[in-house]
Amino acid sequence: MVSVKHILVVILILLTPIVSRGRPDAEQVTAARTSLFAQSAAQALNRDFPDAYVSFLLLDAHTGQLLASRWEHATVPIPLGSLAKPFAALAYGEQHEFHYPSHTCRGSETGCWRPGGHGDVDLASAIAFSCNSYFRFLTLDLTAADVLPTASQFGLDLPDSSTQGGEFAGLGTRWRISPLRMAQAYVELLGERHRPAVRQILAGMEQSALRGTGAEVDRALQSETALVKTGTAACTHSRPAPGDGFVVALVPAQDPRLLLMVRVHGVPGSVAARTAGQMLRRIEE
Ligand SMILES: [Zn+2]
Repeated sequence: MVSVKHILVVILILLTPIVSRGRPDAEQVTAARTSLFAQSAAQALNRDFPDAYVSFLLLDAHTGQLLASRWEHATVPIPLGSLAKPFAALAYGEQHEFHYPSHTCRGSETGCWRPGGHGDVDLASAIAFSCNSYFRFLTLDLTAADVLPTASQFGLDLPDSSTQGGEFAGLGTRWRISPLRMAQAYVELLGERHRPAVRQILAGMEQSALRGTGAEVDRALQSETALVKTGTAACTHSRPAPGDGFVVALVPAQDPRLLLMVRVHGVPGSVAARTAGQMLRRIEE
């Protein structure tokens, strides 16, 4: 008959590999914390922002890991409007030794969404105010072949060969990019902040949150500041609206930990920014 002692010995032998693993290492602790944070963020966002016409993707801004999401078909390419502008700017830079011109936006006269225009703009302010006139000027001679290296470096869906000019800056619907790829491209962008051109773009995103099209994000956040890019694009919902608003917001601005991408049905990007700010505030609480 097998004695209790024998059984205990067997159990001890079986347990040894588990016990000898010792205390969980730092990586395991971080992973566990991340997953707890992701679960509670997802719960809070789904509970407090239940509107089916609000879509979101929440990513770890350091690793690009998807933490929480509610976005039907997030991998299907759709028009994302001005969210493409930073990448159009980098594609232009590749062709022009990263020298960016200044430009005078005269509003409707030069094809901007703001009828009265933005006056003299450089790359950073064109990003901050999402100036279409500046980006029409910047992308005038840009071809799909010029944009391919930047698009592939940042993992964006590639534009087809008939795409040209302002379409690279999200004017029109020809360059379609999947929302998840776009969110991850902004994580990559952050990782490239040592590049002077990227620094100008991120400075523009910081201005956007302070006084540009993304100002509603900082307003909702109150104590924190963000890096923001907004966009407005043709609606792809089954019950169509004139347009959908898009926002990419990174917080905190100094060293972003989180990236939130939001789509709000039937409003411009500058209005969707308020929803994004409220969501981030809810997560940070
Ligand atoms: Zn303008």
